[in-house]
Amino acid sequence: MMIDSNVFRALNIDCRVVNFVLRAEEELAEVFTEIDSIEAANQLRVLQTFRSERIAQRHFSPTTGYGYDDIGRDTLDRVFAQVFGTDDALVRPQFANGTHALFTALSGLLTPGKTMLSITGKPYDTLEQAIGIDDTKNTPGSLRESGIMYRQTELLPDGTIDIDAVMNILRSDSSIKVVYAQRSRGYSWRNAMTIDTFKRTFARIKSEFPDVWIMVDNCYGEFTQLQEPTHVGADVIAGSLIKNPGGGIAPTGGYIAGTNAAIARIEHRWTIPGTGREVGSYAASYAPFFQGLFLAPHVTAQSLKSAALFARVFENAGMVSLPASTDMRSDIIQSVRFPNADSLIAFCRSIQKASPIDSFVVPEPWDMPGYTHPVIMAAGTFVQGASIELSADAPIREPYIAYIQGALTYAHGRIAVMEALNALIQAGQICLK
Ligand SMILES: *Cc1c(COP(=O)(O)O)cnc(C)c1O
Repeated sequence: MMIDSNVFRALNIDCRVVNFVLRAEEELAEVFTEIDSIEAANQLRVLQTFRSERIAQRHFSPTTGYGYDDIGRDTLDRVFAQVFGTDDALVRPQFANGTHALFTALSGLLTPGKTMLSITGKPYDTLEQAIGIDDTKNTPGSLRESGIMYRQTELLPDGTIDIDAVMNILRSDSSIKVVYAQRSRGYSWRNAMTIDTFKRTFARIKSEFPDVWIMVDNCYGEFTQLQEPTHVGADVIAGSLIKNPGGGIAPTGGYIAGTNAAIARIEHRWTIPGTGREVGSYAASYAPFFQGLFLAPHVTAQSLKSAALFARVFENAGMVSLPASTDMRSDIIQSVRFPNADSLIAFCRSIQKASPIDSFVVPEPWDMPGYTHPVIMAAGTFVQGASIELSADAPIREPYIAYIQGALTYAHGRIAVMEALNALIQAGQICLK
């Protein structure tokens, strides 16, 4: 049954706009049931892990100095490993962001003279310099500077992995040590890679090249499906704790999860070769990391529902969304294509206006470090830049696409959809029939 539209009267939005959104919500009943069932299964897996690791208050205790025998840190590692179906994990508040976790993993797995092969096209923007993809930049400390080489295969026009090209390159280039895939669409107009796709792809690769590491950038993908890439053959995944697996509670950090062999290499890059994971203290409580992981299946589901509603409403208003509102999802990002830069900017501003924090701020496009185009970012979040909280990003370039993600609660996501639709109508960009 539809929510009473009078509930939203205080928004001061034309009731036709409110009803337009509520009707779109009704059309999503089946989609929401599917999201609920994924949440149920993932919540159960997380709870079972907490039970089997016998998590107690003592695991939240902070440590100082070297952090020898930090029980909170070491237990958190085991919990993530079990949830992601791996032998081991490194879950650390000291990872500055997701890119730092990804780079640490790559640095641990690759040695001079070896090659990283990306099989999902160009990796996420912030990794470009870290890898040294553009050799004119000569970024100090990049993989390229350390003598590590990089190759990539493009996705096919239908957005799938070109497995024949991947196999041919692997057969002809014995220096390839890491096959790298990005699960999420990132800032690209393509679909996220599903777990099914990964399963088939990784099986092909491992059957002929069992000694190549398979690593996945899992950012934005955690808990959107029943399994993670490590359940279907990936050796290593890495991601950010201010996205899905932090549940909106973790204040900072990143994680790497993988096989014993992979983590045994990576831990020496995380701190110091020879010392590895023996050290590393955290003087605040570990509780937000445990609690965040516990909430992550639910918060991810709230984000997925909000994303589906954004998609449905803008589809019904005549725009193109990817994924479409009824498509299967493997990340929390919803992209919507707008006709011009003005409507893109108006949209992002409406998301900012609908945020609990900094609702009064008007975002402007800017040259963000690590990105190659000016980017407008709407993020009125409790944790700075946390994109598991409702946020929207858009590189100001053609075609004008907004990438929307997050929402701690669906009730908030729904209000934001109403504000956004209203803003575009007010700006004369959408006309409801
Ligand atoms: C967020 C993200 C990253 C890492 O970005 P950070 O801002 O460094 O956390 C990497 N890859 C993808 C696909 C992402 O979405």
